[in-house]
Amino acid sequence: MSFYDTVIIGGGPAGLSAGLYAARAGLKSLLLEKSFLGGQAITTDKVENYPGFPEPISGLKIIQNMEEQARKYDLAIDVQGVKSLVRNHETDFRIYLENGQELGSHTVILATGASPIRLGVPGEEEFTGRGVSYCATCDGPLFREREIVVIGGGNSALEEALFLAKFAQKVTIVHRRSALRADKILQERAFQNPKIHFLWGSTVQEIKGDTQVREIIVQNLADQSVASHRIDGLFIYVGSKPNTAWLPSTVAVDPQGFVITDEKLSTSLKGLFAAGDCRQKPLRQIVTAASDGALAGMMAYHYLQENT
Ligand code: NAP
Repeated sequence: MSFYDTVIIGGGPAGLSAGLYAARAGLKSLLLEKSFLGGQAITTDKVENYPGFPEPISGLKIIQNMEEQARKYDLAIDVQGVKSLVRNHETDFRIYLENGQELGSHTVILATGASPIRLGVPGEEEFTGRGVSYCATCDGPLFREREIVVIGGGNSALEEALFLAKFAQKVTIVHRRSALRADKILQERAFQNPKIHFLWGSTVQEIKGDTQVREIIVQNLADQSVASHRIDGLFIYVGSKPNTAWLPSTVAVDPQGFVITDEKLSTSLKGLFAAGDCRQKPLRQIVTAASDGALAGMMAYHYLQENT
């Protein structure tokens, strides 16, 4: 069985940053990513608030740079899903992979990020990939000159609506309240964009279509009236949930499932750290994920100095 000083689970900005810091500190480190590096960051077309990059840079480019930098310091990266994690004894974890393999590590850094929340209405599952999407960067160009609806009022909804407006004929943002949650700068841009329209105080009740999505049923929450809207595509941005359901019950999480950490990013399990969007925190950004990763990598190093 391979044994490591630290195993990092998740290859988004938090995991890659943790890997960079751990590897540079001389720890025998392995980063495990179940599908592709980057997590939610690579679904962002233009990142304007990552310090040090005054010109917009794509989330994908930031991740490619992070990977290149971490590999320079010999961070091992493996594409493997993790099934479970068990604390074996005082300073030892066992990590069970989906391929049946077992790894050992003195410390573990959780950087599993978060995934889009589903709206939970009839038709959503049926039409996902057939006009219903959670990734404008991936699917937006398919909707050139089409009519698109975006659901949500947060940063993701507005950023993606602005991106979609480059291709679409018309983008309608359906939001359940009459005030947006998104940053002011995004709100101003959306209000000024002639292709973007708003449907306030409304929720989507049902998604309909044939081989493709064609129609949504929208309820006005003020008077409960219901109307049908013809659409070509639907992009859903109603928040995200942490990828933590698989963790053992000994890891303390909040009611939404975000991992609870102290200021050194230690979790309730000794030797287990958490970084990025999977942990309870007030601001989820690429820069705060990278910052968490740096801290977690160094805290794993200090933990090993004191405990092995
Ligand atoms: P979010 O900030 O949680 O916003 C979710 C939006 O969806 C809210 O407007 C919410 O409405 C609405 N919503 C939730 N459940 C709904 C339902 N069942 N039906 C209809 N609408 C529903 O989520 P997010 O925009 O995905 O952002 C997640 C995190 O990533 C945030 O911390 C955000 O700041 C961060 N982020 C940052 C950037 C950036 O800074 N560039 C970009 C993307 C994401 P209410 O407002 O009424 O609650």
